[in-house]
Amino acid sequence: MSEEHKETEYEDICYMCRRPESVAGKMIHIQSNICICNDCMQKTFDTMNGGGLGFGDMLNFGGMPVNMVNLGDLQGQIPNSQKLKKKKSKEEKKEAPVLDIHSIPAPHKIKASLDDYVVGQEHAKKVMSVAVYNHYKRIMSDVNDGVEIEKSNMLMIGPTGCGKTYLVKTLARLLDVPLAITDATSLTEAGYIGDDIESVVSKLLAAADNDVERAEHGIIFIDEIDKIAKKKNTNQRDVSGESVQQGMLKLLEGAEVEVPVGASSKNAMVPMTTIDTKNILFICGGAFPELEEIIKERLNKEASIGFKADLKDKYDNDDNLLLQVTVEDVRKFGMIPEFLGRLPILFAMESLTEDMLVRILSEPRNAIIKQYQKLLGFDEVKLVFEEDALHAIAQKAKEKKVGARALRAIIEEFMLDIMYEIPKDDNIGTVTITRDYVEKKGGPVIEMRGVAAIEERAEEQHD
Ligand code: ADP
Repeated sequence: MSEEHKETEYEDICYMCRRPESVAGKMIHIQSNICICNDCMQKTFDTMNGGGLGFGDMLNFGGMPVNMVNLGDLQGQIPNSQKLKKKKSKEEKKEAPVLDIHSIPAPHKIKASLDDYVVGQEHAKKVMSVAVYNHYKRIMSDVNDGVEIEKSNMLMIGPTGCGKTYLVKTLARLLDVPLAITDATSLTEAGYIGDDIESVVSKLLAAADNDVERAEHGIIFIDEIDKIAKKKNTNQRDVSGESVQQGMLKLLEGAEVEVPVGASSKNAMVPMTTIDTKNILFICGGAFPELEEIIKERLNKEASIGFKADLKDKYDNDDNLLLQVTVEDVRKFGMIPEFLGRLPILFAMESLTEDMLVRILSEPRNAIIKQYQKLLGFDEVKLVFEEDALHAIAQKAKEKKVGARALRAIIEEFMLDIMYEIPKDDNIGTVTITRDYVEKKGGPVIEMRGVAAIEERAEEQHD
């Protein structure tokens, strides 16, 4: 896009009152891109002339008003990051629909696209695909027959590193909607130190390039939501726990919020705009440590009554106890019922097994191993990972207990030497990573190129 076009995409903002063009009306441009709205211009003249002269009269004074404003003082221009994008005209909209009900893929197609990137988590992917499909269908249907479809906000529970953020990121990218990711730990009740709750909406506006319409169809992901659980046994005001949950209620349900444009906090120098959160999809996620204990307790209690009597330690070694979560368990954990009521879709993610970690290494479109193979491919070296080596990496990662996040660090550690040494020798054709190499008990298996290949390469270089 040309620089000039880029410029015209944004609304002008009055230098004095900071209102955008859409609110204050047409602007008067004066030197070096500074604009002033009619009202402010009029007010300036009124002050100067004791209200005697009208704006129309002043303009006839051969550019005098412009000279009266000391242009030397008006140095800083308002950056684009603080401006709103202009609303698109109807014709422009037709060319590029933001999200059209007919173009929203069916849930099985959304899931199939997710499958390309996210390994396992079948249940989570299915629930999410249906929720997202319904959500956007709800937005796009204009029929007003009194049946209002509830918003599909979600609460996602899963151990760290199992792909919660990754799943949401992938989804937003596939749907081409803006996404804002925030950490609930940084939020506090308005007026206290920390980000106030509405700052999440202003992040979304920034992610949508200051385009209000796009932001209103976006997704907000609030991570670490378990950290705003109600604090137990406290006499102090709970400004970062229960109050934040209370404060989020309106936002989750749908409210018009005033947000600053191009800044995370409100102040006099920043222009404001209104965003309706009615159609913004909220996804909250968290690891909810100790929730397993609550679930276990409930299951044991259920089991001890009636015919289902079972051994007491039956659930002790169950890795996927979280999958049996109910709203009641999460309430017990410390989330208030009103909050949970506004996140009607509750689901849990599996903790990653060794096999899943192996698949994460090699299967997704941008799997780590594929990335290294591509890098070495630039040097015409083939990189092979033995199946056993992959399992060794997965086992090491599992020990770290941070899910798939450990994988990259482990691979990077031993790939550094390979990436450093291999380009030294033009004759190396294939490098095979073995379990011994991963476990630091031996080296990688290196194969040289055949004589024919070496000659061919030499000839190429000669040419
Ligand atoms: P968290 O659940 O803590 O939000 P992330 O989504 O940030 O975890 O996961 C960390 C990284 O691990 C991601 O960037 C992604 O590359 C990888 N990952 C985790 N789970 C999966 C999965 N199921 N499929 C593919 N990659 C995954």
